[in-house]
Amino acid sequence: MIRPMRPVIVAGNWKMHTTPAEAGELARTIARRTNEPGVVRVLCPPFVCLTAVRDALADEPAGRGVAVGAQNVHHEPAGAYTGEISAPMLAGLATWAIVGHSERRRDAGETDELIGRKLRAARAAGLRTILCVGEQLADRDGDRAIEVVDRQVRGCLAGANPGLAGGDPLGFTIAYEPVWAIGTGRNARGADAAEMAGAIRGTLAALGFAGGGEDVPILYGGSVASSNIAEFMAEPSIDGALVGGASLKPDEMAAIVARAGLTAAARAAAA
Ligand code: PEP
Repeated sequence: MIRPMRPVIVAGNWKMHTTPAEAGELARTIARRTNEPGVVRVLCPPFVCLTAVRDALADEPAGRGVAVGAQNVHHEPAGAYTGEISAPMLAGLATWAIVGHSERRRDAGETDELIGRKLRAARAAGLRTILCVGEQLADRDGDRAIEVVDRQVRGCLAGANPGLAGGDPLGFTIAYEPVWAIGTGRNARGADAAEMAGAIRGTLAALGFAGGGEDVPILYGGSVASSNIAEFMAEPSIDGALVGGASLKPDEMAAIVARAGLTAAARAAAA
């Protein structure tokens, strides 16, 4: 089988940080410092900062290659859902969306079934999606990590067409984010992340994804920093990173994207 050359992606999840007054300048600075042509860059600020980030990137020559993403979407396109934001509402503001982040599973009680509905709603609105999955520490310690993530992937994709990406190489990405590594400063080992990426692609193959899921990008997320990005990018099955805390720090993002750029260049040379 000829393996597709998967894109290299670095997405920053700003979580509940920055105000509209701050976000544009941060986005501009990150765009200038991460101008690596081979790396797909996505910044996911809070909803209220999407306009500021979009406008700042449009005004900045280095920003034109940086995509804007939302951190969540509602599962319905419109309706009586106070305080929610639907995928179609993001038209003109964002082209990507994260769904199923563990902080939303934890704080908003999102289930795999609901996350699957969000995923389909986002894709139906033409958004590129990053689906987050990952086990708790007790699952890793109990040797159940692969089983748990397999269940999450199957639960989120139940009823979804395996052609979810719709022919877009960036249409559907999975972020493996072990919950115990998020925001803790304790990252997984590259080899464990790679093992999980292999297992996830096994699940995608079992679900009927074309090419056995080999064309679905898989990112690692969980305390990614300039000091550990190389460990993940050295793994051929890992296609980049979903970065939380470090994505608010331009120096960190510059180093993370620079290292991702080496992998992108090596893949292009090998293609
Ligand atoms: C995240 O928010 O998806 C994340 C991985 O956070 P952090 O990098 O801070 O662990």
